[in-house]
Amino acid sequence: MSKSTSREAKAARIRYLLETEGDAVKANTKGFNQGRYDSVAKLESYEELRARAREIKADAIDRLPELLDRVEATVEANGGTVYFADDAADANRYVREVCRDKEAERVVKSKSMTSEEIEVNEFLEEDGVDVVETDLGEWVLQVADEAPSHIVAPAIHKSREGIAELFNETFQPEEKLETAEELTMFARERLLEEIKGADVGMTGANFITADTGTLALVTSEGNARKSAVVPDTHVAVAGVEKVVPSVESLQPFVELIGRSGTGQDITSYISLLTPPVESPVVDFDASDTPLASGENDRDFHLVLIDNGRMAMREDSELKETLYCIRCSACSNVCANFQSVGGHGFGGETYSGGIATGWEAGIEGLDTAAEFNDLCTGCSRCVDACPVNIDIPWINTVVRDRINRGTDHEFDWLVDGLTPDAEEGGLSLQKRFFGNFSTVATVGSALAPLSNWVAGTDLSRRLMESTIGVDARRDLPSFERETLVDWFAARGPRVSPTEAEREAVVYPDVYTNHAMVERGKAAVRALEALGVHVRVPDLPASGRAPLSQGMITTAEEKAHALYAALAEHIDAERDVVVIEPSDLAMFDREYGKFLAPRSQERLSDASYEVMEYVYGLLENGGDPKTLRAPGANDSGVAYHSHCQQRTLGLEGYTEAVLDRLGYDVATSEVECCGMAGSFGYKSEYYELSMDVGSELEAQFSTPETRERRVVASGTSCLEQLDSMLARPSQHPVELVAPERL
Ligand code: SF4
Repeated sequence: MSKSTSREAKAARIRYLLETEGDAVKANTKGFNQGRYDSVAKLESYEELRARAREIKADAIDRLPELLDRVEATVEANGGTVYFADDAADANRYVREVCRDKEAERVVKSKSMTSEEIEVNEFLEEDGVDVVETDLGEWVLQVADEAPSHIVAPAIHKSREGIAELFNETFQPEEKLETAEELTMFARERLLEEIKGADVGMTGANFITADTGTLALVTSEGNARKSAVVPDTHVAVAGVEKVVPSVESLQPFVELIGRSGTGQDITSYISLLTPPVESPVVDFDASDTPLASGENDRDFHLVLIDNGRMAMREDSELKETLYCIRCSACSNVCANFQSVGGHGFGGETYSGGIATGWEAGIEGLDTAAEFNDLCTGCSRCVDACPVNIDIPWINTVVRDRINRGTDHEFDWLVDGLTPDAEEGGLSLQKRFFGNFSTVATVGSALAPLSNWVAGTDLSRRLMESTIGVDARRDLPSFERETLVDWFAARGPRVSPTEAEREAVVYPDVYTNHAMVERGKAAVRALEALGVHVRVPDLPASGRAPLSQGMITTAEEKAHALYAALAEHIDAERDVVVIEPSDLAMFDREYGKFLAPRSQERLSDASYEVMEYVYGLLENGGDPKTLRAPGANDSGVAYHSHCQQRTLGLEGYTEAVLDRLGYDVATSEVECCGMAGSFGYKSEYYELSMDVGSELEAQFSTPETRERRVVASGTSCLEQLDSMLARPSQHPVELVAPERL
């Protein structure tokens, strides 16, 4: 399949999911996500719990071989059996042997992603076993013959109406089922009968404690308990990474898992079972027999599965994936996931942000490649993750590996000719966006001709078919005079001797070549507040190549930029950054590239431009030197960039505007949908617009539609310009004096 055909196929798949599943997924994930915000806000010790949870998982993965020996000893001392399975086939063979020994005709299962991963249902069914899912969502999907679309709420893509139709058609009940209660009661009664007649019960495990051999099962429905204890044989299937040292170490996870996933302060059921449990096996056919007189001769089998996990443990980049407690917060917070769900943003088993790590480690890079680009690196999931996994970095590393593992037809053409430091394997699309600083430099040098040529129909069609730049998207217009050129010709207006502070305004690629006015405004605003400003010609940050998984190139750029900025940091000049995604990179990803001291110095010296203006005003700067609103135009609709929110900096813009007398309505939308190059790509254009539609709606209400629109990020400004009839600008353009 050619690249453009595969892009069309991807776009068609996304379009289908947006139309069929998007509404249900969006409503449910947003509900979970809001629940998380509300629940976490009530928890004073949230950050300590996260730190403790991470510490426990990191320690457990470091000591995994020792803990596995321990858990084997404790489970066997308890009377159970432990089987270590190398892979899915090995695990399935063992489970089949257990079922054959028991002459099992029916196995009931509670929800378990690991059992999905090994596809045990299909394996047992081939052996003539009736396998019944007892989690409501899983059962709905079993009846519908569909795959889960979410790791916690597997049927999140289905509406109540759709489930009612499914049940009514499949089971033909005497009275048509309609309400959620009717559907639930119907499922409950059927599933209870299935459980009562089962020969083997299968569960997963959220955690397994090495000291006692206890399984912690976190559920909403209580079906896991029943599946585990009603039949006399219990098989628990879990990845080896589920082992934690002790019962005490469960505490932070119990506090965090429900809050993070579904926004519940605590989940409905947290079962701690130390099997084989001692409770008697109930004979449901002898209803007069007292419970206590039943047999308590039980079998318990713990199947601990490697299936790539021990190799992930040895992989310094994928290792953190094993800290994941599968809470789903990274799915619920992700704007792209909210639109397409796990059927678009997922692999064989796992979905959402962390799925890239799981699928790359378990299934391989090809599976991860199918959805890896849906992570735009906004990093909101990092703050949402209860174990603080750097999910965007895992996505970036896997993207880099996918790039390296692919041969592209145009490698011979571009090999050695492009300015990046990558070897072959990159698609032309990734090369184009990853080398955007070069594109912009050429664009400015040839402007306005470059803008005219790029805008012709022929160019747009060619760009769409070769590098997948969607023809519906407006292209940036390059300025002949860059910000650096403008400042070099103009010079500073405040000399070092009269200034209290000195600052370097970082000319990021977009500000320097396309959105030059916001750079000029930043210079004027800072000078109005008495700062001696410099705008040196500095290298690109590396954000563009990083977003394409071109880590070697990004790292080279990080070193080059730090080398160029070091003299300014040595001279105690502040570094003022207009583009939040660059600032976020200094703060986060540069930690992977630079020496710790260098990264710390750069991070400490750097400020987002409105944060800097705020600081100057707080330290005696005269607000009258900035632009206040006119009598009738104080209304502002403000959208803050996702990376700016992640850095906790969005409040400074509101505070500055407020202080100057603007009436600010801030969007509640966390993502504009554009995300750098993402919204330009033809396969993702419609998804980008779908994500952005909420922001468009919020800025089109009677309360906001007359307000001036301001936004902090390049992508946000581009997206807003494409969606709204009125123009948008960076907040510094609003407050900077027109002349200085
Ligand atoms: S990566 Fe973090 S947020 Fe995502 S499912 Fe795992 S634990 Fe939850």
